[in-house]
Amino acid sequence: MDRTADVVVIGAGIAGTATAYYLARGGARVIVCEKGEIAGEQSSRNWGFVRQQGRDPAEIPLMMEANKIWRGLERELNADLEWISAGNMVTFATEEERAGWEAWQKTAAQYGLSSRILGRAEMEAVIPGNAFDCLGGIFTENDGQAEPAKVTAALARAAEGRGAEFLTHCAVYEVETTAGAVSGVITERGGIRAPVVVCAAGAWSGRMLRTLGLKLPQMWLKGSVARTTPGPIISHSATWTGVAFRQRRDGTFNIATRSADHDLTVESLLNLPAFMGSFARNKRAIKLRLNHLSRDLLAGSFSKAALGRELTTHRILDPTPNHKVLNQTLAALHRLLPATAEVRIDRSWAGYIDMTPDMLPAIDAVGEPSGLVLATGFSGHGFGMGPIVGRLVSELILNGEASLDLSAFRFGRFHDGTKLTPHTVV
Ligand SMILES: Cc1cc2nc3c(=O)[nH]c(=O)nc-3n(C[C@H](O)[C@H](O)[C@H](O)COP(=O)(O)OP(=O)(O)OC[C@H]3O[C@@H](n4cnc5c(N)ncnc54)[C@H](O)[C@@H]3O)c2cc1C
Repeated sequence: MDRTADVVVIGAGIAGTATAYYLARGGARVIVCEKGEIAGEQSSRNWGFVRQQGRDPAEIPLMMEANKIWRGLERELNADLEWISAGNMVTFATEEERAGWEAWQKTAAQYGLSSRILGRAEMEAVIPGNAFDCLGGIFTENDGQAEPAKVTAALARAAEGRGAEFLTHCAVYEVETTAGAVSGVITERGGIRAPVVVCAAGAWSGRMLRTLGLKLPQMWLKGSVARTTPGPIISHSATWTGVAFRQRRDGTFNIATRSADHDLTVESLLNLPAFMGSFARNKRAIKLRLNHLSRDLLAGSFSKAALGRELTTHRILDPTPNHKVLNQTLAALHRLLPATAEVRIDRSWAGYIDMTPDMLPAIDAVGEPSGLVLATGFSGHGFGMGPIVGRLVSELILNGEASLDLSAFRFGRFHDGTKLTPHTVV
């Protein structure tokens, strides 16, 4: 293979695929290289919450714009995405948590986003028959949910319809530069010349960027999810009340908790200083583990050759779900929603989330090398952002600037002394 393109995108998750869609719509010749399958990793494994609620203030304008896109996306892509706009609910159990949410609500209102604090009686109208142990909740009515397995596939089909090309089982080993500017990529199938490369490699972005001498602090966290058998329709609000659940159109639930596993690797140790604060705050929710993958990766991820081996050995990261946590989650669902007493776990899966220290993504055109654009580091909430990220990245490339302020997502913040503290409420 010896090809040319205007833009090469590394990774066909929702970030890379949406970017390809908007670039192709704008007339660019795009090739997307994916080491495994389209949306094989995080983008098909997430809970499917599409929420503005609880976001870091820097993300609120992006998510408000994303919400507008989601509302018309099934029509635009001519695809069933299982989009349901029935709101996002988060409960609070203490006065301190209530105060945190009231403060967030005020911040959101400054952007024009309307969220309501609900008492127990009002919550009953949203989620009938609930037995939540809480004082109340916050509800953003126009948030929604969609089916991850369908969304990126539909974006890819639409991008292909506009001329974008997707090469699966095609790992990018290296980004090539000439005189400080991107000149193409080396893939397992040969070279592609292109003046612009988008790194949308999800959990692999840190390793990929290291080959260019760029340090993206990134930590992998394993989140487990279960899908239940169908139950009576109760509510389609995507809800977080110690347990996260969303009920799909067919009555099945996706359920999960905040509990996550971290498989220790050499990467963990290298990145530890940047993540000490986050880890300390979340230490009860994060379990540290040493398993096979860790041993594989410990075998050496610091040379280009080792990275190439890893990319093709782990075509699709498919970690084993934490069944113990998921069984506890199901028991909690039965307790919180007594009408679900008969539902059982039908299937379960897990995915590695790519966290950054401030839980914000890097969406930026990196100056050195020029031509390198980042769309990565979505820290467990990039599914909902996917469509707007694709649009903004395409604007950066096609127009030289994005229509929304991306300064909070600049790559330089990891290295210029910026205090990297998460401001998300959930
Ligand atoms: C359990 C779980 C629950 C979540 N819940 C939610 C939620 O409810 N709402 C929400 O908004 N977000 C959620 N997220 C987060 C969301 O799924 C991610 O933020 C989002 O999917 C990230 O998309 P991405 O395109 O950046 O990465 P990915 O989907 O991981 O895609 C990256 C792709 O790049 C490919 N790749 C990597 N390196 C190379 C290379 N060198 N060459 C070629 N290909 C390469 C990979 O194979 C992969 O397919 C959740 C995530 C998980 C795991």
